[in-house]
Amino acid sequence: METFTDLLTSIAPVSGETRTIFDPATGTAVGEAPVHTVEDLEQAVAAATAAQPAWAALGHDARSAALLKAADAVERSAEELARLLSREQGKPLNGPNARFEVGACAAWLRATAATRLDPETVVDDGETYAELHYKPIGIVGAIGPWNWPMMITAWQIAPALRMGNAVVVKPSEYTPLSVLALVKVLNEELPEGLLTAVSGGREVGARLAEHPAVGKVMFTGSTATGKAIIRSSADTVKRLTLELGGNDAGIVLPDADPKGIAEGLFWGAFINTGQTCAALKRLYVHEDIYEAVCEELTKVAAAMPMGNGLDENNVLGPLQNRQQYDIVTRLVDAARDSGARILLGGNPDTGQPGHFYPTTLVADIDNTNPLVTEEQFGPALPIIRYSTIDEAIALANGLDVGLGASVWSSDTAAARKVAARLEAGTVWINKHGAVDPRIPFGGAKQSGYGLEFGAEGLKALGVPQVING
Ligand code: NAD
Repeated sequence: METFTDLLTSIAPVSGETRTIFDPATGTAVGEAPVHTVEDLEQAVAAATAAQPAWAALGHDARSAALLKAADAVERSAEELARLLSREQGKPLNGPNARFEVGACAAWLRATAATRLDPETVVDDGETYAELHYKPIGIVGAIGPWNWPMMITAWQIAPALRMGNAVVVKPSEYTPLSVLALVKVLNEELPEGLLTAVSGGREVGARLAEHPAVGKVMFTGSTATGKAIIRSSADTVKRLTLELGGNDAGIVLPDADPKGIAEGLFWGAFINTGQTCAALKRLYVHEDIYEAVCEELTKVAAAMPMGNGLDENNVLGPLQNRQQYDIVTRLVDAARDSGARILLGGNPDTGQPGHFYPTTLVADIDNTNPLVTEEQFGPALPIIRYSTIDEAIALANGLDVGLGASVWSSDTAAARKVAARLEAGTVWINKHGAVDPRIPFGGAKQSGYGLEFGAEGLKALGVPQVING
């Protein structure tokens, strides 16, 4: 068995304790994660406080150069990182999964290094002269989820470092090894103490969010935890970027080509076996092409192999944890009990090891069903029939979250008009969930606030300062 011990050195926990992390596909042990406590967090904050001023003083060019070297380090260890990620998170090596995620870490580091953020002259009219600058915040806390643990950590770390900050990372309790390994590899190219991962429980996250020495928290996770972080950070008026839960709608217009869009719809909904924040989680299809879309999507979905991530053939894996498996089971069972039509899946093999839930498509489902109104975060997609565009838009906008949305049509201009009426941070046309380090990304409504990526993402990791005069 691979042990990944070379990748897992981190600060020794004061408690001296470790916790065994199990492979969600097989139930076998993957490795031991240190159990860090708030005492370890204090050590990490002290190290960050010591390292940050010299890093800030280096300036943008030298920091960008270091990020490029860090990207090279990720690439040197890419296969080992991907195998660890696959075993801990469950996602297959192939498809848009573990190797793709490690590649994205390097790509985001590079793109962040290349993004320019120059001081902006905001007024220069002969009488008044004012410039807008962005200065380092100091120490940034990065708290992340278990679905894309390495990539989301890279999204948080790269702009924070680039802007001259030190970072303390708090990974999810479910996937600490992947993040510890990524941080270890990045630290091959970074000054000591600048970047530390503290793999504790939610009490460590809560302390990071209230810590007086931490100037900003980048948080990606559930809406409920986001609200807790807002409360914890209130006393220190901390800056926050919150990327929270979503329940993204997709609207298929009557002129779409069912066969042509089926594969895009599939990956929009089922990337990472549905465990993706901005995945398509509710599909609204016009009644004229409803049956055809159901049929084509079922054909594509039925052909996608699910299984152990280390098997090169698979493109779908298990749910990462039993809690999420139970949520998906409950929602699909409730949909079936309500009389909805199961087109595919819905019948997990409870005899096999691992948290595998089959790819599931549910048709003829009411819009008020919990599989539609709650975030399933797994491989089960409800498909809802609609008659008019106004109706579809009202249904899509009917929830209190708004991370992403999509419109599917053969007429891009018509699709853009519909897109403009949707309440979501991003609306994709004929695709769903595609992220790009050059394009800002963030949520509307209770999916959070603040933008990541591109120049907007860099601004979010700086303190704005106006020089007037
Ligand atoms: P979660 O909120 O349960 O946990 C996320 C992190 O918060 C973990 O590291 C956890 O230890 C920490 N945490 C828990 N309680 C805390 C507290 N009181 N204070 C500080 N930290 C605390 O989320 P999850 O189950 O790991 O992730 C799934 C959720 O994340 C889904 O809702 C998904 O939509 C969302 N998500 C959003 C995005 C996005 O970009 N918007 C991306 C990925 C996931």
